[in-house]
Amino acid sequence: MTFRTDSKAIVSIAVRQLAESVRRQGGLGSSLNAGITGNEGTKIHGDFANYADRDFPGHQLFSEITLQTSVQSDSLPFHLLVQGRCDMVAISPEGRVTLIEVKGFRGHARSIPQDGDPVHLAQALIYSHMLFDSDFFDSQGFATQEIDVQLRYIAFESGETHIVQNSWTREALTSHFLQICAAFTKAMVPLYEHRFTRNELNQKASFPYEQLRDGQRQMMQEVIAAVRDKAVLFVQAPTGIGKTMATLYPAIKAQANGLTNQIFYLTPTRSQRKIAESTLDDLESQGFYIRSLTLRAKEQICLSPEHFCDIKQCPYAIRYYEQLQDALEKSYEHRRLLPEDVQALAKAHNLCPFEFSLALMPTVDVVICDYNYIFNPRIRFQNFLADPKQRYTLLVDEAHNLARRSREMFSAVLTISGLLALRKGLAQCRPEPGNDRRIHDSACLSSDRLIQSLTQFRELLLGTDAQATESALYEELKAHHPVKRDQFLATKSLPPRLLAEVATLAGIMTRFFADHPEFPGRQAMMIPYFDLLYFLRVSERYYSDSYITTWRTGEREELYMTLLALDASTLLTDIYRDQSPVVFFSATLSPLPYYTSLLDARTTTERPEIVNLPSPFQKERRLVICYEAHSLRYGDRSQSMASIARLIRDVAGLRKGHYLVFSPSFYYQRQLARALSDLKAQDIEFLAQPQQMTDKQKNAFLARFQEARSVKSLVGLTVIGSLFNEGVDLVGEELTGVIVIGTGIPGMSPERDILRQYYDAKTGSGFEYAYVWPGFNRVTQAAGRLIRSEDDFGIVLLIDDRYGRSDYRQLIPEDWSAHHIENRDECLEVIDMFWKDYN
Ligand code: SF4
Repeated sequence: MTFRTDSKAIVSIAVRQLAESVRRQGGLGSSLNAGITGNEGTKIHGDFANYADRDFPGHQLFSEITLQTSVQSDSLPFHLLVQGRCDMVAISPEGRVTLIEVKGFRGHARSIPQDGDPVHLAQALIYSHMLFDSDFFDSQGFATQEIDVQLRYIAFESGETHIVQNSWTREALTSHFLQICAAFTKAMVPLYEHRFTRNELNQKASFPYEQLRDGQRQMMQEVIAAVRDKAVLFVQAPTGIGKTMATLYPAIKAQANGLTNQIFYLTPTRSQRKIAESTLDDLESQGFYIRSLTLRAKEQICLSPEHFCDIKQCPYAIRYYEQLQDALEKSYEHRRLLPEDVQALAKAHNLCPFEFSLALMPTVDVVICDYNYIFNPRIRFQNFLADPKQRYTLLVDEAHNLARRSREMFSAVLTISGLLALRKGLAQCRPEPGNDRRIHDSACLSSDRLIQSLTQFRELLLGTDAQATESALYEELKAHHPVKRDQFLATKSLPPRLLAEVATLAGIMTRFFADHPEFPGRQAMMIPYFDLLYFLRVSERYYSDSYITTWRTGEREELYMTLLALDASTLLTDIYRDQSPVVFFSATLSPLPYYTSLLDARTTTERPEIVNLPSPFQKERRLVICYEAHSLRYGDRSQSMASIARLIRDVAGLRKGHYLVFSPSFYYQRQLARALSDLKAQDIEFLAQPQQMTDKQKNAFLARFQEARSVKSLVGLTVIGSLFNEGVDLVGEELTGVIVIGTGIPGMSPERDILRQYYDAKTGSGFEYAYVWPGFNRVTQAAGRLIRSEDDFGIVLLIDDRYGRSDYRQLIPEDWSAHHIENRDECLEVIDMFWKDYN
């Protein structure tokens, strides 16, 4: 955090951060309290505070002393302000002072270095210096030149305590502190200089384009107000407004004026990340100065995938901190840190590229990344984001996707095959007799027990409903309100017996891995082990009334046990509300109350700002028809198949062009392809999306649309909600028509039906939440493929009689000016007229 006094800026830093940035050594797995969460750390500290007088009898005890000191030097371009709270100071009856720094750890006490972890020791020594520098001793009415510095390690599982203690003179502590500050400030100077230049240039620089588009000015004003007021803003901004620039430009201006530290541009697609990068380039071409980082997923940037992130083995992890500082310094040669740059720098310095991206993050102005890094508890930058001093701005692009993704992020799954992989790894380890053997045997026993429990569930699912409901297991589940449908079972809560088995296995596996850093088969155990830890974490931290537990069988009789989040709005909101301004924006956030409630749990009590901008394109360039002659409800579909095939043929025959046809399912698409082929249309070429499609196949499919118009019309068959629903930009003649068959509602499933019941109880609109609204969003996304630029034009044909119902009429955007037609000849006539007028 940086702010200015009259002459120099003040850089403020927490003691923990200062110690970590300078004293961290060794590899990624070397931190002793890795794996201890914030809440667990708080508990360890709280427990110690409660029994400290037992360990320090007769002492005067002072907990949580707030300390602060500053470093000023003519040679530095800033003043350094160091702040923190030391855990405890004890003064014995004889006047001997001990400063105590408490740390939790997992694993074995023998892994603690003789002098303690270097970061922990540095922290304790900095606090000790700051204690001397404060008025603490004066206020206690005595003086001393030496204190005892104690690192007190407390094992999270067992409470076992390990103490490292040494005496330090005041002089030695001061010298240590100055050394640390010198190293830190040396590393800080390039960052400070960058920010100084950035603020000066970005305050002066002006908007990079000659003209603002319609709606763009209003969007920019709303964004800057949201950043200033730390507000939550929802913007429905149709394609063409220039929303990337309309969010980044004001946020960067706000940053230059000290209203926010860091800007996160969050988007789920690589193509949108590229647009954000080129928007920053456009800003730079007009005098802006921006250091940005684009993050890529761990598995895509990894330099050693065969190590499965076993940080005790991966060559890019084991000496991570040794070259980190050099790599960070080198990174200042780049302004746009793209994944390729990060990977190259990491490789040159033997660093894990993913961890290196995280280390780079606090040094850049704009981070461009997927939602996961902010919202997914498995991946998110926990330490950085939880720091209340960080003032960051979240710009959430394509925000409608986050609503769906958030449910997946907060859900956790265990499978029998994953547990069997753990068990197989255990069988490959040959422990020494004694304690090691006992832990290994206990891990084997615990995994066998959990596998056996899940196998019982599989048997229950594979039997008939009558057999299931009469079983002892079903009887045990009755207290948890079970629902059984075919090969699916759900309960409101996770049965305590299973939770206990998961917790026992997770605890024992953690201990086992700490004791066995190397053995054949260890790496193959990492992914199921992480899944196990996450499952436990979700059950302990997030599980609430908005969750259910489900069991479902899959291919080869796999069993999936899932903690399924039905509604993650509160969990999402807790991440940003009161902490950071957020702008949720998308071309389709309709219906707005649906998306605001999914993304902001406090929407009814603390109203967010909502802006709904009109499309900047001419309405006359698009014809929208709701053709209501057919029911596309599941049971009625076959009746209209032949007629719809003829309609598609005739529509594509009215004007040679490129058309995308969205079917309600792959099954439907296969039937439709057959019906179209029976028509033997000579002047139309059909192309069908297979159910599984590689990137190469997808690009080849799109390339056909990008070819020049031929003598034949091209009709691409695809499925609503699949690969071509979003992120496809076909311009001009590349796409001249979109036909959507059905209302886009997702297929029925027991999970979705439980979702319906949940929202029925919560809002009274369960069917809309579970089916109608997410379905209609897919329809608007599909229709949105047509007009991507001001030169685009064409027709959108929505086929389903439900579009005539009042609830759907309310959903259809007004500026579509949709024609509601039930007669086939009239439908073709209106389209023909449109083309004649257009031509
Ligand atoms: S992401 Fe790759 S390089 Fe990094 S620790 Fe994991 S295995 Fe190693």
